[in-house]
Amino acid sequence: MSRVDRRRVELDVKLAAIEHELALWFGDTGRGLPLRKHRSQLGRVVETLRGLLGRVAEQVELIGPDSVDTAYEAQENLLEAYRVWEFFRSKFALRYQDGYRRPLAVADEYAWACYRPVLRAARSARPDLVGKEPPLVHLSGAFSPYAHLRGDRFTVEEPAGALNSDAFQRVVLSLPVPVVGMPWHQVRHLPDFPLLAHEAGHCVDHDFELADDIEDHLYLAVRDLPAARRADWDRWGSEAFADCFATLAAGPAYVSALADFLSAPGPPAEGPSAHPPPDVRLSLTLAALDVAGLTTHADALRRDLGPSSEDSPHALDAPSVAAALLGEPHPWLGGRALKEVVTFSARHQDDAVAAMTAVLDRRRPRPSDVRTLVAAARLAFDHAPREFTAVQDVVLQRAVDAIDDGTRAATDRRDGGPGDREAGAALFDLINEARGAAR
Ligand SMILES: [Zn+2]
Repeated sequence: MSRVDRRRVELDVKLAAIEHELALWFGDTGRGLPLRKHRSQLGRVVETLRGLLGRVAEQVELIGPDSVDTAYEAQENLLEAYRVWEFFRSKFALRYQDGYRRPLAVADEYAWACYRPVLRAARSARPDLVGKEPPLVHLSGAFSPYAHLRGDRFTVEEPAGALNSDAFQRVVLSLPVPVVGMPWHQVRHLPDFPLLAHEAGHCVDHDFELADDIEDHLYLAVRDLPAARRADWDRWGSEAFADCFATLAAGPAYVSALADFLSAPGPPAEGPSAHPPPDVRLSLTLAALDVAGLTTHADALRRDLGPSSEDSPHALDAPSVAAALLGEPHPWLGGRALKEVVTFSARHQDDAVAAMTAVLDRRRPRPSDVRTLVAAARLAFDHAPREFTAVQDVVLQRAVDAIDDGTRAATDRRDGGPGDREAGAALFDLINEARGAAR
């Protein structure tokens, strides 16, 4: 056998190895198995990777005596497929450790509970929408939760020949599973979980293509303001939307978690920030509570937070901005306003208060709804931080018990489908174009 033939066999073996590994992991997604709640996410990642690997296999076929470069490029592409897979594999791997599995299961369920109503609205307006799977929460060293939609906090190892971080991010963002990072130190602190609702808001904005609507709705609220103030709001649009969305999805618990988070905001951003200043963010979320019909709770929080929460001119704009972002219709959501799609009602809040009392009395909370349980954790922590922390596991376990044994598929398709294979094949071109541009 010639050296070239042997090279082809070697690459075939390496291709078969990754396929073997993908099948092994997907095999753990059946009923009762550790990754059962990740079946649709894993299925679609695997199918997309198979599309990409199919193109690598075609490249291997082309290897001949005069095409040494092709063998090298095929190997680079195979390693790139491994890097994309590792991006997800490392996140799924944490689900095997009991200490991480339970809080991550609740975090996933929580992000999904925030995301699902919008997915349903989008799908009823656009039945052909394939869309993405539920968000996957993973742990990271970043200071606050974040969705992988913005370029500023994302780096990967960059060995020679590999895609740089920006190009790699474009590749993983094109995969059908949105990823939400949660700081390692929040994993055993349920009262911070409402902050994940903000990240679900970014996923909703991105995955359902709401950016143009958000810009239009914001314009309605700020068009008569002085130019400089209007420019600030334009820059803050997507963060303002995520804060308003989170308030709808998580209720007063989000405002409280945000207020604690912002009380130690860290170093100021270099240049104009995409985030409004803390007082404006709090005013916006309090105004969003008013829009959601939770005015009594908003007023109670206003008393708690004190007058400094609403003192800048931008803070005075907050009610009209919140009203526009939550009350104007979205064509992509069947003409419905966000406040009609996502709700944390007064009833949810009453249930959360009752659950808080139960937990602090060391009784098992009654609600099974994850958003209510997380709100109860936040309320209990606000009320009696040390006492709550001692009994936090009761709430966590209640939320874990409420997760059913079924899958959490966002799509009706079984294990992905030809669409994901095609997307994976297109990924091959994206990767090779990015690499070519970098050389
Ligand atoms: Zn954000």
